[in-house]
Amino acid sequence: MCDVSRRGFLTGGIAFLSLATEVELLAGPNPEGMAEAGKADLVAPDIYFHEGQVSDTADAVCNNGWIIFEDYVLVIDANFPAGAKLVISKIRSLTDKPIRFAFDTHHHGDHAYGNQVFVESGAVPVAHTGVIEEMKRYETGYYDDKPGRWEAEAKGRADVRSSKLKPPSVLFPKDLIFDDGKHRVELMYLGVAHTHGDAVAWLPKERILFTGDVCVNGPYNYVGDGDVGQWVTTLDVARKLGARTVCTGHGPRSDGTVLDDQQAFFKALRNRSVS
Ligand SMILES: [Zn+2]
Repeated sequence: MCDVSRRGFLTGGIAFLSLATEVELLAGPNPEGMAEAGKADLVAPDIYFHEGQVSDTADAVCNNGWIIFEDYVLVIDANFPAGAKLVISKIRSLTDKPIRFAFDTHHHGDHAYGNQVFVESGAVPVAHTGVIEEMKRYETGYYDDKPGRWEAEAKGRADVRSSKLKPPSVLFPKDLIFDDGKHRVELMYLGVAHTHGDAVAWLPKERILFTGDVCVNGPYNYVGDGDVGQWVTTLDVARKLGARTVCTGHGPRSDGTVLDDQQAFFKALRNRSVS
């Protein structure tokens, strides 16, 4: 059962690829090894990484980041509603500055369903335009009358049941820059990858890249909504940025080699012959 049918893989017939052995070889472990799940990890002055836990019961499932600017805080990924509350409380223990923006790296629930919680805290959800296109495709309960992904997720998560979908309302087609002279964060669409609407956050001064699920560190790759062929190309664009630190969408943060490993993993899967 180790064989992955290329057709099944490309069409997303399988959900999470749990090829643990290969992933461990090709996409981990974390060479820096400094972060600890559930703890705010200071990556550079004013720049934090928070590792979530991939579990049905965890509050914070995806990884988060936040940058404390002169006048406001920008959060990377909204997480689930419970994760949003957890992250907001951690930010509040560090600074009184207002949380103004929550950047959804993509439309998935563990990265974007906490938007409403951020809105209630005074922040605006921000995303690449592709996130809205993906939400229109999958969030049929919001855009239409047919239950969609939010409603499916709400069956298993009380925090989702008690919140509501809030699509991002500040949208960028290619990039959006936050720069107060001290810190600079470039939100960038690099191409189709894990979904058709992924964007990353690039901090050129510190050479830190927050990838969302364009890159994960561990057996967390979900391929159902993306395009693996284009994903390999998009990872090339990400690699060319020359990141020193890569804060992935799931799993520990790492250095630039995790992008190489993620790409090698998909190349190996694509090259695997179908029997
Ligand atoms: Zn995702």
